[in-house]
Amino acid sequence: MLKSFFIRANKDETNIKKGKKMARKLLIAGNWKMNGLLKDGVDLAKGVAAEVKSLGKTDLEFLVCPPFPILTFVKKALRGAKVALGAQDCHFDVKGAHTGDVSPVMLTDVGCTYVILGHSERRADHDESNELISKKTIAAHQNGLKTIVCIGETEAERDEGKTIDVCTKQILGSVPSCADAKNTVIAYEPVWAIGTGKTPTSKDVQEVHAAIRKVLSKKLGKSIANKMRILYGGSVKPSNAKEFLSLEDVDGALIGGASLKVEDFLGIAKNAVK
Ligand code: PEP
Repeated sequence: MLKSFFIRANKDETNIKKGKKMARKLLIAGNWKMNGLLKDGVDLAKGVAAEVKSLGKTDLEFLVCPPFPILTFVKKALRGAKVALGAQDCHFDVKGAHTGDVSPVMLTDVGCTYVILGHSERRADHDESNELISKKTIAAHQNGLKTIVCIGETEAERDEGKTIDVCTKQILGSVPSCADAKNTVIAYEPVWAIGTGKTPTSKDVQEVHAAIRKVLSKKLGKSIANKMRILYGGSVKPSNAKEFLSLEDVDGALIGGASLKVEDFLGIAKNAVK
């Protein structure tokens, strides 16, 4: 069924332009995960802010996503720099009896403009389903947050040749129909490439990103799909950034480990040339 959806999408969307870069601003996003105490986060943010300021005007958009407890402090440390603040998850309710959860309104209140949703670590560690991720995405949009919706296959799924099917199912289930290019970014992150130092070939990455765009086109319309940014994530570092970020359908990177060092995060940005 998914395969037939994808084949249909392929046939119907033949006029998504090939060989021509659409005007999509590259997003360089750091996912700090559950790393760093207050001082580490503030120092890192100050370092990123200073380096981004010294770059002057660029065509890049920068984002850092620290852990919840230090969001406010990182926001202050980023003052004056063109670096957006994001969180790593949110609840779908705005308030109430959800012990341990954080609402999208709380995030905008402390200065977040983005939230990462459906990261594979949340899908695995917290059993997050596509349906839940879709609900969170809708709530985030309704409360003024842009979302980075993560998808990607496991190693076993890749070995069985199911990468496109898995990504298609995740997009259809976790990207709501209210998603558009202004409020949503997709991050393709093969689970087996996260934090492992292993990466797909650039040919594979381009193929999967092009397939994702076709599914988005079928679901949200060609115009939105052509404008929507699709990030690659999984062991991105300065030495491989150029290879991935120059690909036609790669519109930035979601960076874990390498976002924890100013020189690596900025080293990736400096290699981000379309
Ligand atoms: C991530 O977890 O989003 C990620 C891409 O991690 P890393 O860059 O460390 O592989």
